[in-house]
Amino acid sequence: MAQLSDDCFAFGGALLGIDAVRKMIFERVTPVAGVEPVPLRRALGRTLAQDIAAPIDVPGYDNSAVDGYAVRFDDLDPAHETVLRCVDRAAAGHGATMALGPGEAIRIFTGAMLPDGADVVIMQEDCLREADQVTIRPGIKRGANLRRAGEDVARNSRALGAGRRLGPADLGLLAALGFVEVPVRRRLSVALLSTGDEVREPGKALRQGQVHDANRYMLAGMLERLDVDVSDLGIVRDDAASLGDVLREAAAASDLIVTSGGVSTGEEDHVRSAIANHGSLYFWRLAIKPGRPVAMGQIGATPLAGLPGNPVAALLTFALVARPMIEALSGTDPHIARRFRVRSAFDYRKKAGRREFVRVSLDRPAAGLATATRFPKEGAGMLTSLTETDGLVELPEELTRLASGTEVDFVPYSELV
Ligand code: AMP
Ligand code: MG
Repeated sequence: MAQLSDDCFAFGGALLGIDAVRKMIFERVTPVAGVEPVPLRRALGRTLAQDIAAPIDVPGYDNSAVDGYAVRFDDLDPAHETVLRCVDRAAAGHGATMALGPGEAIRIFTGAMLPDGADVVIMQEDCLREADQVTIRPGIKRGANLRRAGEDVARNSRALGAGRRLGPADLGLLAALGFVEVPVRRRLSVALLSTGDEVREPGKALRQGQVHDANRYMLAGMLERLDVDVSDLGIVRDDAASLGDVLREAAAASDLIVTSGGVSTGEEDHVRSAIANHGSLYFWRLAIKPGRPVAMGQIGATPLAGLPGNPVAALLTFALVARPMIEALSGTDPHIARRFRVRSAFDYRKKAGRREFVRVSLDRPAAGLATATRFPKEGAGMLTSLTETDGLVELPEELTRLASGTEVDFVPYSELV
């Protein structure tokens, strides 16, 4: 699984901006090899390995977009009602048996093939039918209520691009094109572990000074949403030797290792020394808040993202660093989190030179932009600051003071993880 050269994450500078980090990841991390065909029903969330060219036109034939009457535009009186003779019927899956002649109309239903000679369909609401006569109101445009062959997808055009993460509508499109299976990238295998002598598995009784492992469950959830295979390596003690063993085994079996905790500069932060002893370690101080340093490294040729232990910082650094790494490794188009303009309902002061993310809840007033109210508690360990808010207000590097009432960018959690 050699995808990294040895100095892949080496990067100068004391403080790294998040845009530079993204750029570096997508420049330096190359996709793992491996493509497999999967049946359409199993392709949701997988990454397309090749461009998909349309083998057929969709729709495959000119057809009616409404229930009504297919007619010849030149037969219609532009200023007055027109009376035509209804000569046939065309339902979806059953074409008309005859072509349309002058002065004639054919009763037609949504999705039915347009009869030869017809070039417009009049909605039934704009017609009066009496026996075999149909009276049509004036005012229709040529070509109205038609769907032309190939207007959705033209044969031989590119329907979907390599790197696309397949969503439900993509599967619909592929099915419309007649595919039964599609070539997708191999699923990444990601090893996940928590570190910390105080961290205990949920279900185990806590002694004084211990906490349940929240991060592994949160991170596993985020990884699963990115459609990777997670190997859960549990909790590893703050001990360089046992960490080293676990990391070496994980590197041999995985495409990426994700850890949490143990990456600060304290002497109990053994992830750093374990990585340094068994591979190479690059220590990134990201210019963001919350989010302490992130350890990037590699054990052999397998990359490692060492996320901070505080849950809020772990979530944010996962979104900003681990997710792009996963996209780069799996050949998936980079996801760009959509930002929405909202109005801040809080004042804020910050240091210049770092991007800050403020946990907020949104209210929608009767008119105008949604307003963002800041969560009252802001510790990076505070899980309820995530569960009780809607997303993050993103404050740019250069900003130092924000006044309540200002327009700001808001990122919902669903756009991050
Ligand atoms: P660390 O980054 O190891 O210094 O940990 C920072 C803080 O996050 C400490 O309060 C840890 O107890 C806490 N922490 C570390 N790992 C986890 C975890 N897996 N689940 C919940 N809290 C954690
Ligand atoms: Mg720790």
